[in-house]
Amino acid sequence: MADTALMPIPGQIDPVPVARDITPRADGRTDLLGLPRGRITELFAAAGLDAKAAKLRGKQVFHWLYHRGVTDFDAMTDIAKAMRPWLAERFVIGRPEVVLAQHSSDGTRKWLLKTADDHEYEMVFIPDETRGTLCVSSQVGCTLNCRFCHTGTMRLVRNLTPGEIVGQVMLARDALGEWPKGSMAGFADDEDEEDEGGYSSDGRLLTNIVMMGMGEPLYNFDNVRDALKIVMDGDGLALSKRRITLSTSGVVPMMARAGDEIGVNLAVSLHATNKVVRDEIVPINRKYGIEELLQACADYPGASNARRITFEYVMLKDKNDSDEDARELVRLIKQYKLPAKVNLIPFNPWPGAIYDCSTPERIRRFSEIVFEAGISAPVRTPRGRDIDAACGQLKTAAQKMSRAELDRLADEKQAALG
Ligand code: SAH
Ligand code: SF4
Repeated sequence: MADTALMPIPGQIDPVPVARDITPRADGRTDLLGLPRGRITELFAAAGLDAKAAKLRGKQVFHWLYHRGVTDFDAMTDIAKAMRPWLAERFVIGRPEVVLAQHSSDGTRKWLLKTADDHEYEMVFIPDETRGTLCVSSQVGCTLNCRFCHTGTMRLVRNLTPGEIVGQVMLARDALGEWPKGSMAGFADDEDEEDEGGYSSDGRLLTNIVMMGMGEPLYNFDNVRDALKIVMDGDGLALSKRRITLSTSGVVPMMARAGDEIGVNLAVSLHATNKVVRDEIVPINRKYGIEELLQACADYPGASNARRITFEYVMLKDKNDSDEDARELVRLIKQYKLPAKVNLIPFNPWPGAIYDCSTPERIRRFSEIVFEAGISAPVRTPRGRDIDAACGQLKTAAQKMSRAELDRLADEKQAALG
């Protein structure tokens, strides 16, 4: 088992342990998954290839690795036969380890994954009529502790590496059989339900990515950026930036950089329209308030009517769901002249949560008010509830909570009730 040392670095709320860029392996070989072209080339040069050969092999291996999904050097047919064992002795192309793969009755799939140093994280695939969206995690746990979010209750937090992030997308392509044809030989596809359903590579099931799994992507900026660059690279996974959405709870100082250096669509977890409520349910608001956040949205590079910013709004009964809240939301969006749409998310309760979901009538009314003001405000239907895949449930079970945590949550609930 590889041993990944965790280095504490200062976070906004808590110290955030980060992982090294290359996790040492017990067999001494280097896992190339997650590395950019230039780094692969450097490693090839360091292993003894001359500069020209390293550059050529780096380019070829990058293509096979990310564009074709190949995990075996022997399948890289344009690399000389004699060269392939040389590569295999020194390098591997890994995948995140799958602990559990679940398939919901509504087509949603969830995977519980494990890092080499034994941390669990999750990804979810949500197909609908027009697209298939993969919900990708950026951290194990989250330091931000939003009061309605299950992930925020996890004690253990570590940033996922670029390989662990891009590896989620690659694993989903493996499972869905969506690598360009002709490169499928030799794929490890040992989950028994993976070949169900009429999936074909031509139909392109996986069309969109949302960074809305576990963690705050802007607290793991470099790794998320590096992973998404590979996802967007035409010779990599080749997914358009228009099909990728990054969701943040409001890490204001990183938003402009996200626009400049990543350039994907932005989603912002607003969830409240005034300081008192947002301070309570999204604690990062105490640091970066609503005005600052909305100004950063107004300044977000690339936002336009064609590429609107999504405001996520979790519907919490008697907390943030009044007509007045809906009107205030409209007022704020108009005040900052934001090209925006609103996603209303019915709250998904979890054991120990101190909130309830708003009633369907309340959610409908809220949606109507926003909609009547000319802003699209669809209600997001919960998906995959039977496998706990729904939004904010990306933590497998309350069993993982320590006794102390459960007690603390119970106390909080008691206090909130009266
Ligand atoms: N940390 C980022 C991205 C991950 S959370 C963020 O907060 O934006 C993805 C979305 O799920 C966020 O909008 C989050 O607020 C929402 N969410 C979390 N827990 C939820 C729950 N129990 N019910 C409904 N939505 C939830
Ligand atoms: Fe973290 Fe997002 Fe959950 Fe808040 S909602 S605790 S930022 S994952």
